[in-house]
Amino acid sequence: MSSLDVQGLTVFYGRTEALKGIDLTVAEGQVVCLIGANGAGKTTTMRALSGLTRPRAGAIRLDGADIAGWRPHRVAAAGMLQVPEGRQVFAELTVAENLAMGAWLLADRAETARRQDQVLARFPRLKERLDQPAGSMSGGEQQMLALGRALMGAPRLLLLDEPSMGLAPLFVEEIFSIVADLKREGTTILLVEQNASAALEVADYAYVLETGRIVLEGPAATVAHDPAVVAAYLGG
Ligand code: ATP
Repeated sequence: MSSLDVQGLTVFYGRTEALKGIDLTVAEGQVVCLIGANGAGKTTTMRALSGLTRPRAGAIRLDGADIAGWRPHRVAAAGMLQVPEGRQVFAELTVAENLAMGAWLLADRAETARRQDQVLARFPRLKERLDQPAGSMSGGEQQMLALGRALMGAPRLLLLDEPSMGLAPLFVEEIFSIVADLKREGTTILLVEQNASAALEVADYAYVLETGRIVLEGPAATVAHDPAVVAAYLGG
């Protein structure tokens, strides 16, 4: 478990300011969601946090240490793991090999096997497909694998970027039920979602991002009843 405190996070792409100094906090054991329209800067936020995109300014404190500007492998080693948007599993590798990649920091084979058993207990579909190339699985199965691979790294803080994107309703339900399970077990999660209603239901706290700025924040139940949020994101 872990806590994250972000202040003044600013990201430029060339001359375009994609993130205009955002502040957000994810307390230990909480699920916090970040919602916003296409192009608001949700993925940019995740990439800046995980070290894939270098911020121009701002502090990213993970358990008090400022990790802004750290390389992705160092951020991962510090316990903050991202499940990227669009799944991005290793298509040519088998499910088992993909899972093993998630435990790259572990030298201990017995511990790796123990974690794999835990992940497979959570994702029975993966258990049936251990020797299947990841690229041959359905989108929903690949999303399960991407999540399972991150869990192999025993994250202290999980960054989930649009886990339900492009999935059939049954898989969306399954993904959110897994997020709810992880929350019950005390995993700290920052969740980016276009499916605002499902995200607000599982989250403790929510931020609304519009064109690179946080325009609203509050307990998820309060944000879910905000008239502007209902109109813009909840189909009201
Ligand atoms: P979506 O839900 O569509 O993925 P998002 O909220 O995740 O949107 P971002 O992908 O973070 O939004 O994009 C924020 C802004 O930054 C957008 O205007 C986008 O066009 C721009 N942007 C993103 N990546 C780059 C890049 N590599 N180069 C230039 N501009 C970029």
